[in-house]
Amino acid sequence: MSMVEKPHIAILPSPGMGHLIPLIELAKLLALHHGFRVTCIVPTIGYPSEAMKAVLEGLPTNIDHIFLPPVSPKDLEEEHPGIQISLTITLSLPSLRDVLKSLLETTQLAALVFDLFSSEVLEVAKGLQLSPYFFIPTNAMVLSVLLHLPTLDETIPCEYRDLPEPLKLPGCIPIHGRDLMNPVQDRKSKWYKLFLRHAKRLPLAEGIMVNTFIDLEGRVIKALEEDEVGYPPIYPVGPIIQSGSGTDDEDDGSGSLRWLDNQPGGSVLFVSFGSGGTLSSNQINELALGLELSGQKFLWVARCPNNESANAAYLKNQSHDDPLASLPQGFLARTKGQGLVVPFWAPQAQILSHASTGGFLTHCGWNSTLESIMINGTPLIAWPLYAEQRMNAVFLVEDLKVALRPKADEKGLVDREEIAKVVQGLMVGEEGKSVRKRMEELKIVAEKAKSADGSATTALSELVSKLAFKPRSF
Ligand code: UDP
Repeated sequence: MSMVEKPHIAILPSPGMGHLIPLIELAKLLALHHGFRVTCIVPTIGYPSEAMKAVLEGLPTNIDHIFLPPVSPKDLEEEHPGIQISLTITLSLPSLRDVLKSLLETTQLAALVFDLFSSEVLEVAKGLQLSPYFFIPTNAMVLSVLLHLPTLDETIPCEYRDLPEPLKLPGCIPIHGRDLMNPVQDRKSKWYKLFLRHAKRLPLAEGIMVNTFIDLEGRVIKALEEDEVGYPPIYPVGPIIQSGSGTDDEDDGSGSLRWLDNQPGGSVLFVSFGSGGTLSSNQINELALGLELSGQKFLWVARCPNNESANAAYLKNQSHDDPLASLPQGFLARTKGQGLVVPFWAPQAQILSHASTGGFLTHCGWNSTLESIMINGTPLIAWPLYAEQRMNAVFLVEDLKVALRPKADEKGLVDREEIAKVVQGLMVGEEGKSVRKRMEELKIVAEKAKSADGSATTALSELVSKLAFKPRSF
């Protein structure tokens, strides 16, 4: 029997808000603009966080979501967050298979979309005759490193960070080994080996979606398409950003939006390190004193310090510790009229769209980067912490020139004077004016990609027609 009706797509976001948010937005595009039926199948570690529930509960009625039985945090102890994410998927495979089988009994399920850390589900999809598609929630330069990683692994004998020259991948800006994503920084580690295994699975999918757009990274996409290795089709479907959880001033528990309402236009620097970035106690101290010294208005989403790891909060539900308790003594009182510090989480998309927000000090997560481009063309201060954020920072600062970057000392600490200088530079300095102008231009280019005949719309339509009219045999 062959079927030509529009199919049903299953989407599997691996744990972490940075994966969930763009995949949910992809689900919305497929359901609302292309009439697909979409089911999000959500694995979790322990119980879902409030932020996760808010995103899933705000879904339109034509998108279903199913939580897989949670994996116990005890089964993941002491592992690197990347390994925890991958292991969560491995442990969820039996329940995922059951859910897919039961969907197949009643619907025309055609494809399974998942991100890199869920590469293991590829075999499950193929075993059930579902088309497997990767969604890479970051940029094409990262995808290029991933696709080239097996060759780099075979041909480079040393640690990538010890290479004397930057890597020159086709179509990409030269990137130094020490700026590559965290998982490849220690080739002897268990995490590197697992990451490499994920990367090797990319070519086995029927297609790879990537959250970027042609006018931003056309050269990289073209180089990958022309590579004689012959990768699966690559769909640059971005920029896909969160369309808001419906948070308004009344239900914003953080109070950020109300506070912004009372600030002058473009005066506030938003400071946030994504869904899980953490700083050391010393760095929190310097950041607080640097913001104070700058004399500029700020809105800071603060987390408790962590002296060991910069992604300590990534997979954690909100802790009971109070991040405000770790700020320097007297800081909150002294900066009462200057800034607001909110613990853990704030409605970032609404903050970036607020007229009072004039700059964003960011960890350079790709979702945050695209949101600052798309929502209001907000210029950036780049403060990368982990994952592929250093690659993103190099791209933003050196290539696109839409961000300023503070210098760290030899121990990796950015001191208060440097912070104050860069904050003033962005908010009121000449260098801030030029990055702001370039960011505004970039916003226009990004909007064009999303227009009716733009590159993102075309790429998604190509994929949709492949999925919608692909006959499935039973
Ligand atoms: N986010 C948010 N409020 C916060 C922190 C993060 O809404 O307080 C959202 C942010 O808007 C973005 C996502 O969480 O959509 C973070 O993704 P990103 O890729 O920037 O970084 P990650 O958290 O994956 O490191």
